[in-house]
Order: sequence, then C-alpha cells, then structure tokens
Amino acid sequence: MPELPEVEISARLLGAACAGARVESALTPGVNALKTFDPPFSTLQGATIAGVRRRGKLFLVELDGDLTALIHLMSAGRLQLFDARASLRDKTSRMLVRLDDGRELRLREFGTRQRAWVKLLRTPEVEAEETLAALGPEAWPDPPPLRELLAAPRPLYALLRDQHVIAGIGRSWVDEILHAAELSPFKRGSDLDDDEAERLREAMIERLGAAIDHYEHVISLPIPDKLPMPLTVHRRNGEPCPRCSERIEAVFYEDYVMCYCPACQTDGKVMKDRRLSRLLK
Ligand SMILES: [Zn+2]
Repeated sequence: MPELPEVEISARLLGAACAGARVESALTPGVNALKTFDPPFSTLQGATIAGVRRRGKLFLVELDGDLTALIHLMSAGRLQLFDARASLRDKTSRMLVRLDDGRELRLREFGTRQRAWVKLLRTPEVEAEETLAALGPEAWPDPPPLRELLAAPRPLYALLRDQHVIAGIGRSWVDEILHAAELSPFKRGSDLDDDEAERLREAMIERLGAAIDHYEHVISLPIPDKLPMPLTVHRRNGEPCPRCSERIEAVFYEDYVMCYCPACQTDGKVMKDRRLSRLLK
C-alpha cells in the first residue's frame, strides 16, 4: 500500500521524466476509474505535462492549458511510466496517458477490486476538490505541533492514519513512527504531553524522511510493481525488536496487521483482545 514516502519518490521520478512531454492520447479503460466528466478526459490530448507532485497519498499531474489530473491509488494502485504501450489485455490498466515520444504513463491496480481513481480538473479548481480540501496538514517534511493537532480522545493508531487529521500516513508507516517515538498505538491523542507530542513529531519527520532518502538511492524508472519498503516493525511480528530485542507483537484485523514492541511501547502489555481491535477501527 503506497503511503507518503512511496508516492513522494514516484512523483519525483515521474515528474523529472515526464516534464515537457506531450500527450498523444488519454484513455481510462478502468470501469469507474474516471470520476469526472467535465472537462472530458480526451481534453488531455495535445497538452504538455508540466510536472507531477504529491499531496498526502495523492498524485497531481499538472499540464499546460490549466489542466490537472488528480490520482488516488487507494490500496492497490500504482502510477508507472513505461517505454512501450500497454497491451489492451492488461487488466490492471485504469488510466493510460500516451506520450508522443512513445512512452506511456499508466495507472494500474492490482487485486480484484477497482477502487483507484482519477479526476481531471481545471487547475484553479484543484484546491477546492473535495478529497484535497478535506486533507489535514502534511506529515512530512514539516508537520505542525502535534499536541493540538491530535487532541482528540481517539487512539494514536487511528488518529495518525486519518487523512483528515494529518495527511500521508497509512498502516505501514504508522507502526514505524509509533515505534520510533516509543508510544503505544492505543494511547489517546488527548493524553499526549508536550514531550511525547514533540517526540512523535520528530519520529514522523525522521522515519518518513529516511524512507524517501532510501528510495532516492534504490528506486529508478520504471517504478517497480512492489516497492522494497524499509520497514523494521510493520509485519515483523515474532521477530526481535530492532531497539530492545524483545519480541514484536501484533494485533490482527480482517485484512491487515498492526505491529508494536510491548517493551518499548506499551509498558510490557501485550494487546490481542479482539474487542480492543474493534475499538481501533
Ligand atoms: Zn523494543
């Protein structure tokens, strides 16, 4: 699942590679992938890509003629650039932007559900678009002080993944950030003191920034289907904690897992109660 670091590195690489390229044709073969009808997607034909940037976990592909394609990968999408055209039999294709130099910018989605989407917007209307307008401040590089931002009686594990509260963090990086900050995923945001809030903010900046730096060294085009995420806690249940060597524990949900170190984060308490799991949803 792509989160802030994965979308950031993809936006950097795609932006550098696509800036100045002209669109030959634009299609959305995915059923329901295109969420807007005006302007029509074919308006992209002949437009030149100015750049690609990130907001939260979304991409903004900016083009001349005041056009912006807003793309949400949801849980299983990828935005990739290929040197050759996709086969029309590629069932993963949701959006194909064919460039006149033969390359193709492709939104693909893996798995059975079709949830990734694209909206074609007029650039002056982008900030008012409902998904973007509802996003909280960016989790990286300079999030605001967190004590006020997270001052709600909800567990940190839920608050940090709530894109309306703070944008960019999902199920993988929340485990890494809370572990780095030595904070329990079950602690309520309203119970954070100043020191804890600052420690959490520093952990957020450091872990997300280090992941982006790592990707800068190991990722190049074409962006791989699966990014090698430098995770040390998430999905490492049963392995030794990288800080204290105690066993990393997990709480299992229907389709994902939350991992934490009891010794570093929960005063030694192991949380496996299913009723507690439901409270965190
Ligand atoms: Zn530990």
